[in-house]
Parts: sequence; C-alpha cells; structure tokens
Amino acid sequence: MAAPTHQPLGIHHKRIGDTIVTAINDGMFQGAFSMLANLPENEATAMHEASFRAVPPRLAVNCFLVRTGDRLALVDAGCGVAFGADLGRLADVLAAMGVAAGDIGTVLATHLHPDHIGGLIDGAGAALFPNAELVVHPADHAFWSDEATLAGATTDQDKGFVTLARSAIAAYGDRIRLMASGEALPGISIVPEPGHTPGHSGWMIASGNESLLIWGDIVHMPGIQFKMPGVGMGFDIDGAAAIASRQRIMDMTATDRTMVAGMHLDFPCFGHVARASEGYAFVPEVWTPSV
Ligand SMILES: [Zn+2]
Repeated sequence: MAAPTHQPLGIHHKRIGDTIVTAINDGMFQGAFSMLANLPENEATAMHEASFRAVPPRLAVNCFLVRTGDRLALVDAGCGVAFGADLGRLADVLAAMGVAAGDIGTVLATHLHPDHIGGLIDGAGAALFPNAELVVHPADHAFWSDEATLAGATTDQDKGFVTLARSAIAAYGDRIRLMASGEALPGISIVPEPGHTPGHSGWMIASGNESLLIWGDIVHMPGIQFKMPGVGMGFDIDGAAAIASRQRIMDMTATDRTMVAGMHLDFPCFGHVARASEGYAFVPEVWTPSV
C-alpha cells in the first residue's frame, strides 16, 4: 500500500435534535497577515508561532449540508473554481455522499463573497444547483447588485469579488429569496451580523432543545480573533460594524452556551465560545464515532 499523501474528504456530521448538519471542508486558503486590520504583521506572526499555527496563515474554507426531514439545504457553497485546484471540494464531497446537485432545495448564503458562493456556479456562470432557491439578506443582494459597488472596485481582486457575486445573482435569477429576519426553513433562522459585508448573516439551526449557530465569517483567523475580537480583516466592508458584530455574537454564544460552527474555523469546526482571561477561546467539540 502506498503511503498516504492526502486526507480523505473533509466530512463531519453533527446531530442537532432531528436535524443532521454536515460540515464540508472545501479546501484550505493560503492567507497572509496583511489581510488583518488593527494588528501589525509581526504581532500576528508571534501569536501564530506561540500557538504552533502556520506562518503564513492558512484558512479552512468550510460549508455545510443540512438535512431536516426530507429537505436538503446548503449553507454556502465554497469556492467552486474561483481559487484554483486546492479549493472547490464541495462537488466531490456531495458526490461521495450520494447527494445530487438537483437534490439541493435551498442554499442559505451567509454573504456573497467568492469563497462562499463561488461553488454555486460553474466557470461559465451557470447555476450548478438547478432546483435550489438562493436565500440571502437583502442588504448583501443590494450591495453587490449596485452599479456603484462595481464602479468603486479599484483592484483586480475587488473587481473579481463583485463580478462573481453578480454572476451568482444572475444565475439564480427569480430563484433568489431575500430575507432579513425569521425562518428560511422550519427551524432555520437568519441572524444578521452586519459589517464584514452589509448583509453578512449567520444561520441558527434549532431542533428539539438543541441549537447551532453557523456564524459565517465572524472569525477568519481562529488563532487571533478569539483572543482579540477587535482585530478585523482589511476587506471588511464596514470594519467597526464587523468588530461590533463579532463581539456581540461571541458574548451571546458564550453566555447562552450555543454551539457554533464557522466557514473559517479549523475543520471540523464545531465547538463553543468560552470566556478567557483575554477575550475568548474556542473549545472544539470532541470527536465521537456516533453522529
Ligand atoms: Zn469567507
């Protein structure tokens, strides 16, 4: 037998009441400390070195499959072809699980950045989930659709972000459902967390007496932002609002002891937020063989 060079596909199931939430690793994104706002790169490097984390930083990119009754929904869809061959594993994972693209009835978007919605469309911009409605906060839909956002994008990266969001909006057309509050599906509610993008939102999944907040991009760098929630990302659309949302959500989930999962938390990315002597700490869920 040849020595392994890669992990098996990143698939991890978690039962929340009668709902099964499957974390899917879409790949790893090679980041840089220059992405951070409010923290010098040498301090970020020191924090990662002290905690045995990668320098330069790597970010997990995750998305989620949610089964409630006979419904199948995705929360975000990973990168698709937006960031090359190290990302975009969602399609392989769905195939391995025996889920056809046509089986997905709903995609719940946390926001319209390329590492979250790139996987909704193919390289030519066509919808990959032919039967899915796309549920998104109206503030994100409005921001990315606005001609002023496109006109204001000066770098190639910014233009690429806007172009991809607009392609996804175009591909799903009249299958887009805008919602700012309430339940998108039974037991699945939107939790607005504005700042990273105007309509950035988490999705709260509740079943029986259990709940899970899939919080989107409240944290990009777990080795830094739990301890220092005041550190943001340079590409947050409204940096101050992003920090306020992060502090509010961490305080809420620590107080209520709500389980969380995130798109850039270390896979398999389920755990709790605990108060720490400085800021917060992430306490990952312990692996068990039963779901
Ligand atoms: Zn992201």
